[in-house]
Amino acid sequence: MNILVLNSGSSSIKFQVVQTDKDLIERDGDRCLAKGIVERIGSLALVHFQATGRPALKEDAPLRDYRAALDRIVRWVISPESGIEGIKSMADIHIIGHRVVHGGEKFRSSTVIDDAVLAGIEDCIELAPLHNPANIRGIRAAAEVFGRGVPQVAVFDTSFHATMPETAYLYGIPYHLYRRYKIRRYGFHGTSHRYLAYRYRVLNDIPKEAVNIITLHLGNGCSACAIKGGDSVNTSMGFTPLEGMVMGTRAGDVDVSVIEYLSHKEGLSLPDMITLLNKQSGLLGLSGLTSDMRELLEEEKENGDRRATLAIEVFCASARRRIGSYLAEMGGADALVFSGGIGENSAAIRRRICAGLDALGIVLDEKRNAAVKGGQTGEVSGKGSRVKIFVIPTNEELLIARDAFRTVSGLPQPTYSPRKTRKA
Ligand code: ADP
Repeated sequence: MNILVLNSGSSSIKFQVVQTDKDLIERDGDRCLAKGIVERIGSLALVHFQATGRPALKEDAPLRDYRAALDRIVRWVISPESGIEGIKSMADIHIIGHRVVHGGEKFRSSTVIDDAVLAGIEDCIELAPLHNPANIRGIRAAAEVFGRGVPQVAVFDTSFHATMPETAYLYGIPYHLYRRYKIRRYGFHGTSHRYLAYRYRVLNDIPKEAVNIITLHLGNGCSACAIKGGDSVNTSMGFTPLEGMVMGTRAGDVDVSVIEYLSHKEGLSLPDMITLLNKQSGLLGLSGLTSDMRELLEEEKENGDRRATLAIEVFCASARRRIGSYLAEMGGADALVFSGGIGENSAAIRRRICAGLDALGIVLDEKRNAAVKGGQTGEVSGKGSRVKIFVIPTNEELLIARDAFRTVSGLPQPTYSPRKTRKA
């Protein structure tokens, strides 16, 4: 089966074509046939497509909307020019899998999209005004391009975290506000954390119930997840992806009183304040230079930029704090897993995050750590480290493709429900 996986953002569509089926899943042999991105939809769009093992196509194209962008993607996928094995026409694309950011409390598992499900995703727009509308545009564009005959499946960023107990997802605000407006922590990056838990289980040949780990997804957005018995029991992002760790442009945890104080001082409206915390803070705001970790590391090395170092150190401290709090909450963990663009590619950041955590049983082996390059999986813990340390490249698209296939085929797939609250 060929699954077209779509990740529709505010002005972009990322895609992968993944070949998967029951046998391939069992053999862990499913693979990406092609991937690409269309950026700047609505103006002169940038197109970057690549079939696995073949030269990339890069071009500018005037693509007015999501429908036009998806048309361009599909035309390329089925063309002889892309050369994708086994795909000659639209009939060779069997299912569309969509990344959907917010499923609220309603969607606890991946779901075939029908009118009722689409309405449910629309209901969640209130909770994710920046993300869900783009996801919906992608779903509508796919329905127009492929028609009703090709099933579409929604895979939610939030559903893996639906196992969090009340003690993790409730804020300390009046309970009726949770009841009335569903104000609670939802968590995001769930597909990535779930993939990392799965890959860790396969790597160590253990059952799901034996997976007791802390996963760190460190990309432009960053989140940590405490995984106990294979389930998410806490995660750092909250009601929106703004909460938690210091990220590329997001502030992470901030005393909310700052919002009122600063809006007075700077004359900023509430939406301006939220934009400041989402888009102008984090590594970018602290360094005053860039949100890009690789560039900050270069600035630090080549120019000794003090603010670059400061931003990196605040970032690492915020990750360390999260690790410590989850170790306490979980009563210890068997492993720490690094992933995402920063976690997979930067040995230096892995080393700096783990520095000084010996007392918690986390000891990194510098040589092993330096030897794991981008895209590779490896163990980087030192001898005697009670908590093993792994680097595992994430692959959200693979899980979306598998979920899409399983859901449409009526095969069992994971559903997540809250864990019972533990009594002290
Ligand atoms: P997204 O969250 O948008 O998917 P990625 O997971 O690709 O983003 O992560 C992007 C981040 O990874 C950027 O901060 C980038 O600088 C960082 N990164 C990528 N390669 C390296 C590297 N070799 N060293 C340090 N940081 C890197």
